[in-house]
Order: sequence, then C-alpha cells, then structure tokens
Amino acid sequence: MLALSNALIAELPTGAVPATRSPPPATRRRPSGADLDRGRMTAASPRRPETIAVTAGRPTAAPGEPLNVPLVLASNFRAGTPDAPVTEYSRDGGTATWHALEAAVGALEGGIAAAFASGMGAATALLDLVPVGARVVVPTDSYSGVRALLFDGAALGRWNVDQVDITDTAATVAAVAGAGSDSSGRPADLLWLESPTNPLIDVADLTALCRAGREAGALVVVDNTFATPLGQQPLTLGADLVLHSATKFIGGHSDLLTGIAVAASRDMAARLVRRRQLAGATPGALEAFLALRGLRTLPVRLARAQESAGVLAARLLEHPAVERVRYPGLADDPGHALAAQQMNGFGAMLSFEVSGAAAADAVCRALRVVTNATSLGGVESTIERRAKLAGQEHIPPGLLRFSVGVEHVEDLWDDLSAALAAG
Ligand code: PLP
Repeated sequence: MLALSNALIAELPTGAVPATRSPPPATRRRPSGADLDRGRMTAASPRRPETIAVTAGRPTAAPGEPLNVPLVLASNFRAGTPDAPVTEYSRDGGTATWHALEAAVGALEGGIAAAFASGMGAATALLDLVPVGARVVVPTDSYSGVRALLFDGAALGRWNVDQVDITDTAATVAAVAGAGSDSSGRPADLLWLESPTNPLIDVADLTALCRAGREAGALVVVDNTFATPLGQQPLTLGADLVLHSATKFIGGHSDLLTGIAVAASRDMAARLVRRRQLAGATPGALEAFLALRGLRTLPVRLARAQESAGVLAARLLEHPAVERVRYPGLADDPGHALAAQQMNGFGAMLSFEVSGAAAADAVCRALRVVTNATSLGGVESTIERRAKLAGQEHIPPGLLRFSVGVEHVEDLWDDLSAALAAG
C-alpha cells in the first residue's frame, strides 16, 4: 500500500494557505473552510489512500452539516475586523470549494495543495518560483505545453533550458550537477520531471533524480498527472513540488479544466498561492467542485482502467500490426522495474506504434468505441497520434497514445482489433 508521509500530513494547515496579499497582510480563514477533514492518518486510525480520496476535504461531522462542501459561487465576502480579519476576495484566499479540493489532493500527496485554473496555470506558477537566469533541466519527452512554456521563457531570456532523456539516470544526474548544452557548468536551479511521460510512457528513477536535485540545490518538480495521486506520491520520493492537470484523471470526465500544485513545505505553498493571486490563475468554482467529485471515484475508475490497460497492452504486443507497445506493466518494458518500485499499479496510459502516420490515422478513423481526441484520463477511452502536434519531432510518426477508460475491456479490444485490421 502507499506510504504517505505522516510528518507531512501532520504539517497540513487546517484551512487554506494564508494569502500573502499586500495590503492587508495576514488574513484568517473563513470558518466554512476551517474544519475540513484532512485525511489525517493516525496510528489509531490509519486511512488508506482509497479512503482518503473519499473522506478528505469534507466538513467535519457536525449534525446538520452537508456531506460535501457546497459550491461557493462568490468572489466577494463580508469584511472582517482588525481583530478578526478574513479573506475578503476569492482571488486572494480562495473559497471553501477550492479548499476542499486542496485538502483532499494535499492529503493524498502528503503535502499542501493549491488549485489553479488549469494544469498550465499551475505549471506557470511553479516556474515562477525560479529566478530570472535560472538553469532548468527538462525531459525531452514530457507534456508539450510545458515544453512550449519553457522554450518561450528561454526565448524571452527568463531561463536556460537543457533537455535530458530521463530514462538515462546517469546523464540526467550529470546534467543536474552542471553538465549541459549551455556549457556553463552551473548546477540546475530547477529539475522538471514527469513520470510516466507524455506520450512515450517513459519512467524516471524519481528517488535517484530527486536526490540529485537536492544535492545540486535545485527545486524538483514532478508532473504526476499520468500516475495520479493514487499511483505515485513524488513528495515521499524526495520531490519538492508536484503538478497535476486535474483536467485529466482527477476530474475524470472530460468536463473541466483545473490544475493543482502540491508543495512539500508551507513556505513554497504560500509562494504558489501568491503567484495564483497575482496572475489571477484561479480555478472556477464549478470546476473545483467537479474536480473533487471526480476525485471521490478515482480509486475505482483507476483500478478498472489500469486493469484493462494491462490486458490491452499484452494483447497489442501480440498483434501483427503493432510494432511496439509501451506500458510499464509489461514485464519487459524498460520502465517496468522502476515503476514496480515507485508506483502503486502501472496506470491507465499506454502507447503503441503502427507502421507509420497513415496507418495510425487510419486506426483513429476506424475506432468506434475509443474516441480520437486529444485529452486523456476520462471515463471514456481516448486515443491520439501525438506526432501530428507541433514540437513533437522526437515522437515516432506512427505512435498512438491511448488513455484507457472504464468501458468493458472486451468491447475495447473488439474495437481496437477491428480498427487495426482496417488500418
Ligand atoms: N501535464 C500533463 C502531463 C498533461 O498531459 C497536461 C495536459 O494535457 C498538462 C500538464 C496541462 O494541463 P491542462 O491542460 O489542465 O492545462
């Protein structure tokens, strides 16, 4: 079972991370967000992640309280007094609806969470933690939007970017320590990791790389979107910060955009909240509510989807039209041993290659149950030929990224095998 850090959970605040708005300086939590269940694990009452996903972020048990924190549609709140200040504006300190989502994801990750308008909103706030001129090390294979954000920033002179193959632990450790294309010999200020990666499903040795980051004095961020907070807890492996596109598995229904950043320390969480406040990268009220509702069923959705992913990966491997399958659950996948060590399950994302772009496009067109669509992590299976996107030159033209949903596995297989025959 997953090893959540009791120390980190004990450190969780009992409300939102206080906004660092200036002026006014300190604000107090509104009572509505103050008594959330934080999914604490105690020796007397340990809770497993599947239970934390269901219980954390709920109002504590008082008669007459609703079971769920309500959808708070408010930007403006009655002012407090000098003796009892409150957050008066949602962009500054959030709402009870955001706090509930943050409490639940923070409890699962073992850190302090801040919700954002989208995964990219959270990624931008994370990148704002490093100073101008920073050296950033990023995987060559990682989410294209984050890579674009990094390269745009580099073009503006905000930072220098070095790309690494994160499956090559020694080369990545060397790059973090100072070996890099900019030849500065300077250690990295930020190590950006993603595991498994989008879309090649590469697995990084998170423990070794987080250690290398710490030794170099770099902040280590792990994009945990593919693994989900149930599949992997990077903070327990040594990361400083975690990113989720909650748009994906956490929301789980392809009906919202939300991002979450989780910090190991209160100080970094407060800095992220300040970035959110000043950039206005705030989550929508309905989106935060729906993301938490999605999180409640993540354990069952993920269990079902990853079981199907294992079955489908094994069958695809045997299919004559398929040249390669990447899924860390396959015993001979290059990421298998590491994933078995650092993940709980192997996730619901896989990729496979057919003979080229035309064959891959034909498969996408022929599918009837699986949807050809760009996003992932929903109850519905989706597939996309990723090399069609800009900035994805390292991706084989015939590679299909497949997000396995919760449909019956035999219907998925019938659909896939028919489409492969047609393609
Ligand atoms: N990280 C990963 C791994 C993603 O796949 C995505 C989106 O596809 C993001 C971050 C960005 O998230 P969002 O689309 O919610 O901004």
